[in-house]
Amino acid sequence: MSPNPVIDTLMVNGVSYNLPANTDEVVYLVNQAQQAKQVVCLRGAAHSRPLISSLEAEVNAGRLYILLSKMKAVTFNDASRQVTVEGGCHLGYDPSDPLDAAPAALAAYRSTLENSLVYQLDNHRTDPQNPLKGWALPDLGGIIHQTVGGFLSTGSSGSNLFASFNEQLVSVTVVTGGADGARVQVFSKDDPKYPNKNENPFYAVGVGLGMFGVIVSATFQCVDNFNIKGQESTTTEADCPIDLFGDHPEKESLVDFFTKKTYKRIMWWPQSGVNRTVIWQAEPMPVSAGFVPNPYKEIPNIKIMGIETPLPLELCAHLMMNGFSDIDVFLSKLKVQHPVAYEFLKALDEKELVPFLLKLFVPLDPVVNGTPQPQQFQDVWYGSIPMDDKISDTLIPVWFTELWFPIETGVKVLSTLKTFFQQNPDIVGNFSYEIYPARHSDFWLSAAYQRDVFRIDMFWYGDNAGSPLNEFYPTLWNELYNAGLVFRPHWGKFLPAGDSQEGKAYLRNNYPNWDQWMAIREQMDPHQVFVSDYWRSHLFA
Ligand SMILES: Cc1cc2nc3c(=O)[nH]c(=O)nc-3n(C[C@H](O)[C@H](O)[C@H](O)COP(=O)(O)OP(=O)(O)OC[C@H]3O[C@@H](n4cnc5c(N)ncnc54)[C@H](O)[C@@H]3O)c2cc1C
Repeated sequence: MSPNPVIDTLMVNGVSYNLPANTDEVVYLVNQAQQAKQVVCLRGAAHSRPLISSLEAEVNAGRLYILLSKMKAVTFNDASRQVTVEGGCHLGYDPSDPLDAAPAALAAYRSTLENSLVYQLDNHRTDPQNPLKGWALPDLGGIIHQTVGGFLSTGSSGSNLFASFNEQLVSVTVVTGGADGARVQVFSKDDPKYPNKNENPFYAVGVGLGMFGVIVSATFQCVDNFNIKGQESTTTEADCPIDLFGDHPEKESLVDFFTKKTYKRIMWWPQSGVNRTVIWQAEPMPVSAGFVPNPYKEIPNIKIMGIETPLPLELCAHLMMNGFSDIDVFLSKLKVQHPVAYEFLKALDEKELVPFLLKLFVPLDPVVNGTPQPQQFQDVWYGSIPMDDKISDTLIPVWFTELWFPIETGVKVLSTLKTFFQQNPDIVGNFSYEIYPARHSDFWLSAAYQRDVFRIDMFWYGDNAGSPLNEFYPTLWNELYNAGLVFRPHWGKFLPAGDSQEGKAYLRNNYPNWDQWMAIREQMDPHQVFVSDYWRSHLFA
């Protein structure tokens, strides 16, 4: 490499991102940052909110920004059935890739389905006896727009308790800071130097929050590709077949539901007058000739008074969710766009209107001959495990705080919230609460470190007025904390109380290897080239 490579840049949100094309260029950039006393900020697909927007807001504080859009190569090792993928590769297609607006010279690096990890795995067909047989990963999250580097760094996970994304990680190659300049280091799960997992830095770096360096590539153990078959059923809370609140021992327990089903999640709509649950579940099945996908369809056809609206479904949802911020504005827009619906809705008072609209999103299963008919679906593994993948990030922007608890305390979490919402109906908000589990993890800063977890993800509609940090999230965090329910927050979502000493102590105390994680980080990055203000305020004493 020439001593001063010419590295492309791209403006994203007012920030000039460097687009290195290979590991040497990443090393060059990290050295540049180190010499100029800059902090390196990495962006994957920017799904971590408010993390990435906070990093971008640090632009005037001496930051060097890196986006790995040119580093998405995928290579296969057939003998070991392992795939090595560069850190900038998206898991699936990313519809919000900033390269879509980039000059034509960068067009070749845009995210597509074909250059995504999941697609290439599935289409890696090497068995002439069985042309359907490709590769897969055994678990994925609810969307697959993320990059490999970003998904790993925040300890993200799907709902499978039998296998997880980060458990498939075999090794990771990272450009770290280093006392004498940037270094390329490989960390392996089976490094013979570290027979004890609690000493192997692999388990620190794998969930590294972007603070150990740049993940330039990662190697995963793959499994055979598969299809899934599942169903989604919407019922009232009372008819929910799972004992969510611990008051119906005759129903299936939540832990049994989580452990018996492979892929699952529950959307809970606890608003008074709505009180519904949407249970999504799916099982893997072998690929077979003649399989016809019938993908999961998330947003139902919205009808008002039996009339199907002429608006695209997500636009309907968008208008409705916007309407919750200001009902009068919503009704005035509706008056123009859908007078029939307007005439009907204006007759309802505000207390009835919001539950009425929400129930349009979550219609109960249709009933045929007295029997409810859940939605049935079947698909290739990467088509519908990420059940939310088709939802538009721009029409339905969702912000989250997600708390991970020991799996057996899930029922107490839900009953605490249910009681709280009954007593404080104004706090519940106008969106859903997502409930799902994650498999235990050996990565020291995984929120599932050494325990299977129950997760609750509290949604905030991104176009709402104000911020969820004003009242909504702090109220919920405090309520659960005060009930003695100890949680670990998802690192890629809104984090509680990070900037108080109490908040930091709370985080530290919940991770047995916290100090060791910090010590290894410090060794690898003694000049703190990867410590942004965001992480400093949340993690450092
Ligand atoms: C709609 C939606 C659905 C989601 N569903 C799930 C889900 O089902 N399960 C779940 O667990 N999470 C979920 N998330 C959270 C999401 O998986 C995480 O926020 C994840 O980190 C996003 O990956 P990204 O590529 O966008 O990374 P970014 O958000 O861009 O970055 C995340 C962190 O990783 C660092 N980073 C990025 N690339 C690298 C790299 N190459 N090397 C080192 N550090 C790097 C960044 O600096 C940052 O600290 C969801 C988020 C959204 C918005």
